[in-house]
Amino acid sequence: MIDLKQYGYTGTAKPEDGAKPARVTAVHRDRYELICEIGVKHGKLKTSVYYGREEHPFPTVGDFVLINDVPGGDCQIIETLPRKSYFSRLDPKPGGYTEQAIAANFDTIFIMQSLNQNFNVRRLERCLTLSRQSGATPVIVLTKGDLVEDPTNFITEASEAAAGVDILVTSSKTSTGIDALYKYLTPASACVFLGSSGVGKSSLLNTLMGEDIMTVKEIREDDARGRHTTTHRQMITLPNGAHIIDTPGLREIGMWESGEGLQNAVSDIFTEIEDLLGTCKFSDCRHESEPGCAINNAIQNGIISRERWENYLKLRREALFAEDKIKAIRERSAKHQEIAMWSRQMKNKKEIW
Ligand code: GDP
Ligand code: ZN
Repeated sequence: MIDLKQYGYTGTAKPEDGAKPARVTAVHRDRYELICEIGVKHGKLKTSVYYGREEHPFPTVGDFVLINDVPGGDCQIIETLPRKSYFSRLDPKPGGYTEQAIAANFDTIFIMQSLNQNFNVRRLERCLTLSRQSGATPVIVLTKGDLVEDPTNFITEASEAAAGVDILVTSSKTSTGIDALYKYLTPASACVFLGSSGVGKSSLLNTLMGEDIMTVKEIREDDARGRHTTTHRQMITLPNGAHIIDTPGLREIGMWESGEGLQNAVSDIFTEIEDLLGTCKFSDCRHESEPGCAINNAIQNGIISRERWENYLKLRREALFAEDKIKAIRERSAKHQEIAMWSRQMKNKKEIW
């Protein structure tokens, strides 16, 4: 028997109808790979629960679900249990967008940038915003530490953009800084790696695994490009029992693709700017060339950088756009439910008549 607690399950409910909790470890089209108390299983969604009912989100890698056994076949997934954290994206579909989760129930997000041309504070702010919105704890990992003499300036720049966030420097080449990751990689916990292609995610995973499970495609450092192919399960368990969720969707996640709560996340990441906003001389200040503008003063006095201010404006615009889209989806979904309920009622009436 497998103890699902080792896979991060903390639920205690014992469903009466014999349904079992399980965790989604990989998704292949409409077939799900799961781990439950009796081992690895495959499952499919129960159509009547999931289709046409957007209040039941499709499971993704990392989700806890309830399953029913089906003799001699794939089990049936009957419920997605509430998520403590998740990343999602908006998928364009004919007639609008739908929100699709791409990873769920992770504790830590390693925001990875490598110590060469890949280091970019503005991208860091973007990733921090996404992390804040997801519900998990971000940790900044500056990879390829062996490529710089002294990482102090990078650390200083990162910490200015990310007050209160832990920052680590690692190298998969020399194994420097790897031990420090285990503060977060505790048994049964789950984490995700967020970083552009080529920052060294596969190499780090291989280092943590103690074997090459990922293909590292060698790149030239001068153009900082790289690609890898993943050929294994998407939730990977390290020798110490920590889990890493690695899904292709995560490599591309941008800002406006994500949804709800983004504007609050932007506010949380740029608190010092938000604190200033209400303090300009004119209440309708556009922070351009008005006298007594708190933002302009702060920029001129070097309290905030112009780049950070501009990035704040950009991310706020994107957040607004994404939230509008999500709101439209929710409204459409509510409309669908209304119609479904109405037609069920009509059907019942017909049966009575
Ligand atoms: P991924 O695309 O994020 O998975 O990145 P990879 O792990 O495939 O690595 C991309 C490139 O960076 C490869 O050429 C690696 O050899 C190189 N690389 C990865 N980690 C390190 C490191 O710690 N130091 C150095 N110098 N190069 C690294
Ligand atoms: Zn102003």
